[in-house]
Amino acid sequence: MIRVGMGRDLHRLVEGRRFLLGGVELPFEKGELGHSDGDVLAHAVSDALLGAAALADIGELFPPSAPEWKDADSLTLLKRAYQKVLEAGWRLVNLDCVVSAEKPRLLPYREAIRSSLASALGVGPEAIFVKGKTNEGLGPLGTGEAVEALAVCLLEKIPASNTDAAGGT
Ligand code: MG
Repeated sequence: MIRVGMGRDLHRLVEGRRFLLGGVELPFEKGELGHSDGDVLAHAVSDALLGAAALADIGELFPPSAPEWKDADSLTLLKRAYQKVLEAGWRLVNLDCVVSAEKPRLLPYREAIRSSLASALGVGPEAIFVKGKTNEGLGPLGTGEAVEALAVCLLEKIPASNTDAAGGT
């Protein structure tokens, strides 16, 4: 039993905010605007996981209208989302992601981002990959007004004998 999930998110880039990808801060003159810390990759991954398990989307779980999620650490939100996936009897097989932004370059931070996501999800970094793309200077991504993340994940059913260990109370 396997399930595929996809997630996508986009945030405006503005001065005075941190630029976070999967819990890793990249040095840059702008960062993601958002009610939470704005980590576009953590949000896309959360939606992919929740979607694969047909549970909810991130906006339902952590509404932007709720003061408790103001400036929230998106890795914490990701962990909470994945806990719900585990409790529903599914676990991550692998995750593949694309981040589109004209700047900064993702490649120097790729291994740190993979490790950060892997640690949050309790899997090895070999289960996670992340690629950076520019937008060829086109549109709001190409002019540095926004950053976008896409994520695809595969889940497998947790064998019944392991369900308590993975998601029990
Ligand atoms: Mg978001």
